[in-house]
Amino acid sequence: MQLTPEMKAQINEQKKNCVYCKITSKEISAKTAFSDNKTEAVLDIYPVVKGHIVYFLKEHYPITPYIPPEDSRHFFGLIPQLCKQIQKGMVTVGMNVLISSGNAAGQLVPHVLVHLLPRDEGDGFYHFMLKKTTALSLEKRNIFQQYFPLRMSSYFKDNSASWHHGSGDIPEFLTDIYQRNTVIYEDEKLVCIIPEKGAVEGHLEIYSKTEQSSISKLSIVDSIHLFSTASLASSLVFEAVGAQGTNIILKSGKSDDNPQGRLSIHILPRFFDDKLKELTWEQKQPSYNLDGIYTKIKDAMWPVKYVEPKELPEMISQKDSQPNPPVNSQINVQSNSPVNYQKQSSFDKGQEKYTGSDQHEERSSSKRKQNHHDEIREAIDRLKQ
Ligand SMILES: [Zn+2]
Repeated sequence: MQLTPEMKAQINEQKKNCVYCKITSKEISAKTAFSDNKTEAVLDIYPVVKGHIVYFLKEHYPITPYIPPEDSRHFFGLIPQLCKQIQKGMVTVGMNVLISSGNAAGQLVPHVLVHLLPRDEGDGFYHFMLKKTTALSLEKRNIFQQYFPLRMSSYFKDNSASWHHGSGDIPEFLTDIYQRNTVIYEDEKLVCIIPEKGAVEGHLEIYSKTEQSSISKLSIVDSIHLFSTASLASSLVFEAVGAQGTNIILKSGKSDDNPQGRLSIHILPRFFDDKLKELTWEQKQPSYNLDGIYTKIKDAMWPVKYVEPKELPEMISQKDSQPNPPVNSQINVQSNSPVNYQKQSSFDKGQEKYTGSDQHEERSSSKRKQNHHDEIREAIDRLKQ
């Protein structure tokens, strides 16, 4: 998606007060555990679990659809290696990856962040329990079943992948998932389902077909595809239920909220007054010293390296892109810092609005995608009548 001059001006304005941009430029000091030419990972000084890492792109993007393909691949592709080394440093079996979009979902800074949370059984972290009690209406179910495959087919047209030919096989470890839930999309690497009952209406789940339990075992290509699909699912959920934000929560390995230790991604629409308040947490000073943990994680990070995959999709170059057609969906992101990096910045600018839409827009597909947006809205409007 190419940014309009207005969007660029807005982003430049945000950058001036962005804590994460200041960390990257070393204006604010932070406990940097990993850094390369495009990305940085720092220890959160208000950790919700021991070893809580915040991972971000050095370039400022307010929400994931703004991230250009090259940066997106690098950013998403490194997540398994980072998780592996954090788990090695912290000696844990479980892991959560959290991406929040919009104030309603707990995104407080307009700079895309990925929270990496090492987890263990009995670690006292209960924010991701996800009590599944809500069934999705048949009408909304139909919308997801109809539009998710269309979105993915658009995605593959823009990002042709040598490995992709169709829906792939069903691995044995996922047979129960297929039996109990409604499959709305699948390919060789993953399956997306509507759970029998969700934590809220519009809750979707994605399972990897190449790995049963551990995010750290995913290849760079598989990780790029998994998180790109999760981002598309997040946009679709956002529009289909008219949400004010979304959370993407990945669970991996055993923890109290993931007793089977399964690898899964949960896409959750969020509203300011929803019942998922437990997904966010208060920032608190840790009762323990962070330096020891910082050293352990930093020392484990040396093998982490992004290598552009050989079977890379032929990405559309940015210069061929056209401005993204406007969509109605808007995500509010408040310009407050979620973490205090020693220096407090003047970061209280009130609310700003950002237009959300799909990733990887380009000339040939922008009209097609606009049609999809319109069709979804029309379908939703019909339901309301
Ligand atoms: Zn920034």
